[in-house]
Amino acid sequence: MGERTDRRTWLKTTLLAGFGGSVAARCARPSTPAPVRLPPVRVARDRIIRTTVGLRPSRPSGFVLRAESHGEKTIIHNYGHGGSGMSLSWGTAHLAADLALETGATRFGVIGAGVIGLSTARLLQQRGRDVTIYARDLPPRTTSNMSAAWFGPTGASEAEHTTPAFEEVWHRATRLSHRHFQDYLGDEYGVRWVPYYSFSQNPPNPQGQQRGLGRLITDLYPETAQLEPSEHPFPAPYVRRRWTMRFEPPVYLNALMRDVRLAGARIVVREFADLDALLAPDEPALVNCTGLGARPLFGDAELHPVKGQLTVLLPQPEVDYMVVGGGLYMLSRRDGIVLGGTQQADDWSLEPSETEMDRVMSGHAQFFSAMA
Ligand SMILES: Cc1cc2nc3c(=O)[nH]c(=O)nc-3n(C[C@H](O)[C@H](O)[C@H](O)COP(=O)(O)OP(=O)(O)OC[C@H]3O[C@@H](n4cnc5c(N)ncnc54)[C@H](O)[C@@H]3O)c2cc1C
Repeated sequence: MGERTDRRTWLKTTLLAGFGGSVAARCARPSTPAPVRLPPVRVARDRIIRTTVGLRPSRPSGFVLRAESHGEKTIIHNYGHGGSGMSLSWGTAHLAADLALETGATRFGVIGAGVIGLSTARLLQQRGRDVTIYARDLPPRTTSNMSAAWFGPTGASEAEHTTPAFEEVWHRATRLSHRHFQDYLGDEYGVRWVPYYSFSQNPPNPQGQQRGLGRLITDLYPETAQLEPSEHPFPAPYVRRRWTMRFEPPVYLNALMRDVRLAGARIVVREFADLDALLAPDEPALVNCTGLGARPLFGDAELHPVKGQLTVLLPQPEVDYMVVGGGLYMLSRRDGIVLGGTQQADDWSLEPSETEMDRVMSGHAQFFSAMA
């Protein structure tokens, strides 16, 4: 456990120095009372069970979803979901499957076995198509396995590069995903609703309005409420509680792999060195779900890595909530307490950074030791 910190001192120092999330919207009061007692996370070095690194496939203008002809073949792109690929997976898979079916093909090659490839393959199967999945890496060795992961679709593009056209597609994909994931709730797939607390050092804006893409989906976060200090144990002046879906990538991706296999998918472990190699399989239509791999394959220079590192502590089953604020987050999963909040653009290294781990650990240690 980190050093004990007085709650008021913590508020004045750490919080004001930056442990505060985006401005929260003031929303209607909840009909049910907020929990007043929440167990803190025990943050200590000797509780660390692993550190993981993943490279988010980021594109400032958002994911690519379109069909492209290459001689007699069609390639449908579905890649570049940045920090929101888990959240958007079913949504863009639905839209990619629609494009795929327009080709009239009955056999498809899906390139990639991360969350995007597996979801797309599954939906094609559900529409009666025959699927072969080609991938260099299978779960558990995909970026998707390294995600946190909760339903947070707004990290798919950067505000200043988001066009109205993208916003529209993103909005459709987000709602499709949000609905589809609810068919996977439960332990078998590792999907469930959790209370999500977010912090700010600033009061919510008076109109209670959200900015950016988030403004379009406030209804997807039920029972949102701005809490009074007496209603929560956190050392923060402004706390909002809402509900979101949390995914457990190891459970979820294994279950998807099982599902596509049971439905007859062939899985071929193969790395494609270039576009010519990718066009070699005999399926007439391919769906490109290669994530960051699309950069070399298709010369997409906008696609770049944003490195993210997670420090995972021993599971604490009594901790059943998540917190986000000041660039840090904590998510409780059955396979551990996940501490995150690192984003290093254009860093291709898969080596964990000690500096980032220290920052994440000390920020969380101070925060949780100051809980009432
Ligand atoms: C620390 C961290 C936290 C995250 N948290 C969240 C979160 O809370 N919520 C959320 O929605 N998202 C989150 N994300 C983002 C999410 O993990 C990604 O957006 C998502 O995993 C991308 O999935 P993908 O299937 O496109 O890519 P990947 O999982 O990387 O899969 C790509 C597949 O393509 C294959 N491939 C690539 N190139 C080739 C090639 N040349 N030949 C053959 N196969 C190839 C790979 O082997 C792999 O099978 C997080 C990411 C990180 C790193």
